[in-house]
Amino acid sequence: MDFTEDTGLLIRALRFSADKHRYQRRKDQAQSPYINHPIEVSQLLWEVGGVRDVSVLLAALLHDTIEDTQTTPDEIRKLFGDEVLSLVLEVTDDKSLPKAERKRLQIENAPHKSVGAKLIKLADKSCNVRDMVGSPPKDWPLERRREYLLWTEQVVAGLRGTNMALEAYYERELLSGKMLLGIA
Ligand code: NDP
Ligand code: ZN
Repeated sequence: MDFTEDTGLLIRALRFSADKHRYQRRKDQAQSPYINHPIEVSQLLWEVGGVRDVSVLLAALLHDTIEDTQTTPDEIRKLFGDEVLSLVLEVTDDKSLPKAERKRLQIENAPHKSVGAKLIKLADKSCNVRDMVGSPPKDWPLERRREYLLWTEQVVAGLRGTNMALEAYYERELLSGKMLLGIA
């Protein structure tokens, strides 16, 4: 792929994801537009992780579309191809399962993901830890926020050896989050 084609695909993914998430908000007090989150995940991959694989960047922009909106796998395949679809599916939870089971499966399955999916998950968990500390879901008690941080630590344990810069970034966010939330 060349620069022009990649840029076109990234603009298409931004527009597609913004449209799919248009009625969704983050859970923070300010109810931020949801699209900010996938944009932050892809920016982290680019700027911190040095990721230049356009399929990974596209899948990062699209990573919550199937899980959280009416988006179908076919739509993603038609617009972005099989490789991007496969990455998005790898980071999509099976919503027919109970929440506790989904959380357990994320820990169990993390080590078996492809490198691209591991990169997206590393960036996603980093952003969510940062948000859980700086702009947390409104009305969440402190203990639930603490539990969330500790759960991400278990998932990320299975993603190690993928990208040193991203792993170090996550580690810093986790450590400062633990201090700020009073986790020993
Ligand atoms: P959720 O999975 O419901 O919420 C966390 C997710 O919300 C993140 O992974 C992130 O996902 C998204 N998100 C949206 N806005 C924000 C934000 N501002 N900051 C951070 N993340 C945000 O929560 P839990 O992790 O608590 O999982 C539910 C589990 O908790 C279940 O097992 C349930 O039984 C249990 N539970 C626990 C309670 C408690 O008090 N401990 C109370 C109720 C349920 P994304 O990357 O997709 O954006
Ligand atoms: Zn996400």
